[in-house]
Amino acid sequence: MTLTLPDNEDVRFIYEQVDTHTDWFRDSLCMIASENLVSPLARQLQVSDFTDRYAEGLPGKRYYNGNIYVDKVEVRVEELAKKLFRAPEADVRPISGTTANISAFFALIEPGDLYFATHLNDGAHISSAKFGAGGLRGGVEMTYVWDKERMNIDVDATRKLLLQHRPKLCLFGRSVFLFPAPIKELQDTLQEIGCHVWYDGAHVLGLIAGGKFQDPLREGAHLMTGSTHKTLPGPQGGVILGNPKDEEQWKSVRRRVFPGTHSSHHLMTMAAKGVAFAEHLEFGASYADQIIRNAQALAQALHERGFDVLGESLGFTRSHAMVIDVSKQGGGATCALDLETANIITNKNLIPDDPGTSMRPSGLRLGTQELTRIGLKGSHMSEVAEFFKRILIDKEDPMKVKVDVAAFKKDFQTIHYCFVPGSPAYHKWRIV
Ligand SMILES: *Cc1c(COP(=O)(O)O)cnc(C)c1O
Repeated sequence: MTLTLPDNEDVRFIYEQVDTHTDWFRDSLCMIASENLVSPLARQLQVSDFTDRYAEGLPGKRYYNGNIYVDKVEVRVEELAKKLFRAPEADVRPISGTTANISAFFALIEPGDLYFATHLNDGAHISSAKFGAGGLRGGVEMTYVWDKERMNIDVDATRKLLLQHRPKLCLFGRSVFLFPAPIKELQDTLQEIGCHVWYDGAHVLGLIAGGKFQDPLREGAHLMTGSTHKTLPGPQGGVILGNPKDEEQWKSVRRRVFPGTHSSHHLMTMAAKGVAFAEHLEFGASYADQIIRNAQALAQALHERGFDVLGESLGFTRSHAMVIDVSKQGGGATCALDLETANIITNKNLIPDDPGTSMRPSGLRLGTQELTRIGLKGSHMSEVAEFFKRILIDKEDPMKVKVDVAAFKKDFQTIHYCFVPGSPAYHKWRIV
């Protein structure tokens, strides 16, 4: 798209910053575990007239007119979501993973109710915690007993705790999601207590849809919330899938999405989710498989170069993500900054029992979903690991490594696993 910018300094400033950012990311390795590249066909819908419209309620029962085609699209997008996740129910309206979670908390518990979730240090997302959506609802949080060696919930100890406290809700899911959550293993206990079982699959949604991680809705979860832009490479948004224990549970979720927590649900994003779901039905299995292979290859390559990648005895990861303890290399904050200077985008992260703080943690979290999306395979992972070694272990000048990172990235400029093969990954607005 060619735009002639007006003679307005503020508009020019904003456009120039976005443009410079886009150039920078074109030349960078993006390894934040929660990000991805949306496909050209999904991106395109987000500048359609759907961007300008409202649709409150459900298809066929709207408060506004003008929704004839919006309704047709939304019905189809819901069907696609159900098919992709083999889910009896789907709500495609949440505008983010967090708003999906807020809706779920309000649907499943009352103020004062006890719920179980993962501890933040063990990789939970802020929305599950007491200063996130759980606390906003007035819920009382207890956390699962954690097995540091296995980087997962300690099933036996947690079972005892659950039977003792009998929570109203058990929430599974994390932002550092290396290994499947043991819902199946806890299923008997969860049923005995009769609690709501909710799986937050924000990070691993694309892996689940591709059939490569775990299948929460068949392992005992009544609800699965998620973001549509992490391993599922769609537009920034949220979704709720249901295999509800009864009709009332799902009805309550629907009511909390609207009128509870959303008004307009960003129709352009809703439509774009549908394209992302259709693409994932076609390409999701091979994409998810390659993401995980790449993560395991990268973790191994980093380990071989002297990095302390967590979870060695378990093969480091079974998802897109991995965590490195970089306290010997100067800590997560410093390392992430040096990597950024060299055009490698990551984030600092807490690790279990971290002696640091969330602004100065000991770890780095990496994900391979975006590198996989632009065509990197297992054989490229040692080259990526070598950049990490040069910057963080050999302490080469990051400005020098940056030149090599940009040169390496030149061969990876198109999006894979979507309906327009070979289309450019970085859309630029040409400023005249
Ligand atoms: C990212 C994430 C969320 C929040 O999703 P947004 O779409 O960013 O609002 C919720 N839960 C978990 C576990 C996450 O990792």
